[in-house]
Amino acid sequence: MPELPEVETMCRCVAPAVGSRIVDLVRPKSRLQSILISPRIDHFRRRVVGKTIAGIRRIGKRVVLELADGDDAHPSLRPECDGPFFGRPRRTPLPTNCPSLSAKGTERLAADGTSAHKQFEQSGPPIKAGCPVMPDGDDAAQYEYIVLEPRMTGLVLLANPPNTSHVRLVFQLDGLRAEQILFWDQRGLGVARLLTHRELWEHLGPDQIGPDALAITADILRQRLGNSRRAIKVALLDQSAVAGIGNLYAAEIVHHAAIDPATPCQRLRAADWNRIHAAIQEILTLAIRHQGSTLGDGTYRIAKNTPGDFQIFHRVYGREGDSCLRCGNASIVRIVQAQRSTFYCPACQRSCRNGRKR
Ligand SMILES: [Zn+2]
Repeated sequence: MPELPEVETMCRCVAPAVGSRIVDLVRPKSRLQSILISPRIDHFRRRVVGKTIAGIRRIGKRVVLELADGDDAHPSLRPECDGPFFGRPRRTPLPTNCPSLSAKGTERLAADGTSAHKQFEQSGPPIKAGCPVMPDGDDAAQYEYIVLEPRMTGLVLLANPPNTSHVRLVFQLDGLRAEQILFWDQRGLGVARLLTHRELWEHLGPDQIGPDALAITADILRQRLGNSRRAIKVALLDQSAVAGIGNLYAAEIVHHAAIDPATPCQRLRAADWNRIHAAIQEILTLAIRHQGSTLGDGTYRIAKNTPGDFQIFHRVYGREGDSCLRCGNASIVRIVQAQRSTFYCPACQRSCRNGRKR
């Protein structure tokens, strides 16, 4: 936590900050151990103050703020994020040649991401997602990006943090569209980085991060994981194969696809991959519509400091001992895979661990 739906929700909630200029960066005084900030805070501040937030993107489970000099953002970085949810007309869509999205990623979003995204209007228009392309020439030095990685308990907000004591960073804005962006983090495992385009590509390019879970096709998913001996539920957490899925949604996805979470990837048939792909789209789409899952610890909140409500739709996660909501023939079981809890139904999630391919 937070996973793709929660981070997508954070991105949409801070979208009104697009177009604002950063006038200061403050790390509130605290006895808590600082989150990881790179470069160090004084260098970070010097490089971002005076820059305009030209766009917001999501790379897997990270919020990315695109910076531009002054008010006139590079045309290819023109914002398109704030929509009807925020009470303002939608602005010019981003052109498809945006330097921070790979051509293939843009194409996939247009081809099959858009239809799923149409349902999201109630929580704001979708945020562009995908890996940066390799920078060339001036781009490498010209563009800079603030990458906020919530990790376990981080939140990116415009206002109303759950408490003030765990606010780790405050980007003060010129107030024209938003007054500030807050990075709040209960446990302090989050990371804030300022990266040039080249560094962004090196850290979060296609060699490091797989296609976004909402944009990947069933064929690509199968190509990337189909030869793996790993259990399917463990493999779905591999961010270099597919980006955005974490422990909670992986369990819900394999239950929705009726596949035993311990099934080795290489034993799955094409039809299984199609079901897994469809489950990824359905579960993540619905979770975004409900603005993510707030678990018992209450840590995850949306921008208005209210909880997400997808947790009421969980069918296996955290339901050990409860009756399966699909088949009603068995109770949900908890097992441990790769040091993480997995919840599943032994009756309707069928296995092929020992036999031939299903
Ligand atoms: Zn069942």
